[in-house]
Amino acid sequence: MFITFEGIDCSGKSTQAQLLANKLQEANHNIVELREPGNTRLSEHIRGILLNKEYSEINERTELLLFSASRAQLVAEVILPSLHKGKIVICDRFSDSTIAYQGYGRGLPLNDIVHINRIATQETEPDMTFYLDISPETALERTDGREGIVQDRMEEAGITFFKRVIRGYMRIANMNSGRYYVIDGGKSVDEIHSIIWRLVSERLSEEERYSTSRNGALEPMIP
Ligand code: ADP
Repeated sequence: MFITFEGIDCSGKSTQAQLLANKLQEANHNIVELREPGNTRLSEHIRGILLNKEYSEINERTELLLFSASRAQLVAEVILPSLHKGKIVICDRFSDSTIAYQGYGRGLPLNDIVHINRIATQETEPDMTFYLDISPETALERTDGREGIVQDRMEEAGITFFKRVIRGYMRIANMNSGRYYVIDGGKSVDEIHSIIWRLVSERLSEEERYSTSRNGALEPMIP
């Protein structure tokens, strides 16, 4: 099963991804915890470039291709092999971030981004995506406790940029209602975690029931 977390910076993605990972581990599930960009040797190099403030000249197209290159390596090297082994993959950000940020935020053509996403992900789609919905104002308040790049980046990009990104996420959520769960990110950490855990454990039980009944149906055919 493939689970992703989406939302603007400081919406609580990494907090919730970590809590979910802990809970799944306690329940003896085999999980892989990832955050984009990064998590492979090559992708970590690319992350270093993307987060390096010295490269302030970076063009938005370069940014798009670097995020996508990092993702292509992550999908090929980690995500697909892990899913094939039946592991639960939890990823903090995935291809929806590129549509929301580079597409809606920066204004690059959406059709091109969808095409590049397809190449990078090998058409791998999450089974469940949790979108943590908070306003840019709340996000900015939360950066007060944080130093450095996130705060700089958010202040530089400005509220209107994040409003466009949020509008993008809402469109993506509407177009992918089967896998999208929009959660009020303004609730407490524990409340959000309980909602997510209920949804994930329901899905896991459904999958278990399905695989048991499927095995049951196949049994008579085995000589
Ligand atoms: P993201 O991964 O989306 O950037 P984080 O999980 O790192 O966000 O959270 C950003 C900041 O907000 C952290 O200081 C975190 O402790 C705090 N935070 C996370 N979730 C909540 C919440 N539901 N309510 C209040 N603060 C939160």
